[in-house]
Amino acid sequence: LISKLPFTGTSIFAVMSALAKEHNAINLSQGFPDFPVSEELIKLVNSYMKKGLNQYAPMPGILPLREGISEMFETRYGVKYHPETEVTITAGATQGLFSIISAFIRPGDEVVVLEPAYDSYAPAVMLQGGMVKYARLQAPDYSINWDTFPALISGRTRMIIINSPHNPTGTIIKAKDLKKLDTLLKNRDILVLSDEVYEHLIFDGHTHESICRYPGLASRSLLVGSFGKTFHATGWKCGFVLAPPQLTAEFRKVHQFVVFAVNTPVQHAIAEYLRNPEHYKHLGRFYQEKRDLFLNLIKGSRFKAVPASGTYFQLLNYSKISDEKETAFAERLTREFKIASVPVSPFYHNQEDNKVLRFCFAKTTETLEKAAEILCRI
Ligand code: PMP
Ligand code: GLN
Repeated sequence: LISKLPFTGTSIFAVMSALAKEHNAINLSQGFPDFPVSEELIKLVNSYMKKGLNQYAPMPGILPLREGISEMFETRYGVKYHPETEVTITAGATQGLFSIISAFIRPGDEVVVLEPAYDSYAPAVMLQGGMVKYARLQAPDYSINWDTFPALISGRTRMIIINSPHNPTGTIIKAKDLKKLDTLLKNRDILVLSDEVYEHLIFDGHTHESICRYPGLASRSLLVGSFGKTFHATGWKCGFVLAPPQLTAEFRKVHQFVVFAVNTPVQHAIAEYLRNPEHYKHLGRFYQEKRDLFLNLIKGSRFKAVPASGTYFQLLNYSKISDEKETAFAERLTREFKIASVPVSPFYHNQEDNKVLRFCFAKTTETLEKAAEILCRI
């Protein structure tokens, strides 16, 4: 068998979550909340199932949900995406990302990806015969290096993938970054894929710089979102893609043959729940409190942290504790100390090792206290 992805193994999230389970460890590895989904939202799903909404949804998603997303973007960013022609519901952001890349990348095309990079981007590009060019974010703040970035663009560049708030580093793209990108892409036929699944999870008074607020970029962009993050329901796999009509039409050509349509009762429930902005308006504050609690609890430990500006992940540097490789150290902490995290090296194509681990703080106070008690002993 000749593998189409010879250098790709099982996703680090699956590996670390399985290891956590095997060793009965506190799981701060894979990103998911350990607290329940709102009772009201669960009741809504139930009620729509009972009403008989259990058959295929329309291919692009049910209209009330597309309208709700359109309204949320208009309220938050002052930008209107037309529900009929510019909004598509996907089976989580993952399927949106994969279908976008499948729809637009041809063999030989180059795709620029910020590194460290979320793990699904590069394999999706490679499956289409595309080549990935890595724009390494610069430590310690993981900012984009605008001196070296332009050299990554060539006549073969078809797409740039950005992600803010950024997984795994927790940093955010600033207005100046998007302005630079806008200028750089002028008069070039290059698409932007903007992964904004953590759009609501942003801290310390920062506002989310959505690609949609930059007309020059928005006209060439596909924006990906996820209700998994927004409504604490990662297992429901419900997300969306926003793009101008022509790009949406091309995207849907692929989307229809990847899933055709997405879970019907979940779409109806989210459409109704989304109407009340109170259900997502306070997410930044909610997760900032968790980040602060976690950082305060581990103050006495030997781990070093630069507070995350967004997402529900906190990177911790352990160079004062050990010189083991990230993967070995993360595995040992899971086995011996019963705490699971995610090494950051798998987010680099060359497995760059900076002695940092990623911890998910989307957890109850009790879980964070137990985790911190362990981290302070290491
Ligand atoms: N993009 C990023 C940056 C993510 O962190 C995740 C998942 N946590 C996804 C995409 C996938 O989202 P979903 O679970 O909705 O497929
Ligand atoms: N995005 C989540 C994370 O970063 C996990 C998603 C997955 O397991 N594929 O941990």
